[in-house]
Amino acid sequence: MNSVLKSNLEFLRNSFKRESSVFGLPKALNSLVNVFELNQPNFSGFLVKPPERKTIVITTEGQVKPKAPQYIRVPENILDFPLEAVVHLLKHEFIHVEQRNRSNYTASRAVREFEAYYRGIYDNNSPIPCPENLKAQFRNSLLKYYHQMSESEKAVHAVKFHESQRLKS
Ligand SMILES: [Zn+2]
Repeated sequence: MNSVLKSNLEFLRNSFKRESSVFGLPKALNSLVNVFELNQPNFSGFLVKPPERKTIVITTEGQVKPKAPQYIRVPENILDFPLEAVVHLLKHEFIHVEQRNRSNYTASRAVREFEAYYRGIYDNNSPIPCPENLKAQFRNSLLKYYHQMSESEKAVHAVKFHESQRLKS
């Protein structure tokens, strides 16, 4: 990542942190969602859980049903992590938010996760690149969820799977 982008991200992260300390974390994360254009019509807000030390675990909560409200639960220290990772982890959850709003959507968990991790690596319309260590993590998750698929699901996703497991994306 170039140094201009890095200092801009640090500037942004500090401004979200200031917003969080005055108006609360959900409000600051809503600003982040607007800046990075992550929003979905069925997204209903952020929920906060206790801080995490090493990795960030973010979850989407709500029914898999069109128009059902979806909430994203984040650790309260999320803004202490590098912003580029936070943005891409949130992007992953917003893919789940969008999936749950699809009509007649019956994909298994393995297929839903596979789609979200695959797009995390290969959807390159984000203004900031996905960090390499996160891409490596996403690749491992693709491996894990591919192996949880049924044989017919594997057949549908085999090409993407093999593409993702080559060394470089
Ligand atoms: Zn996921």
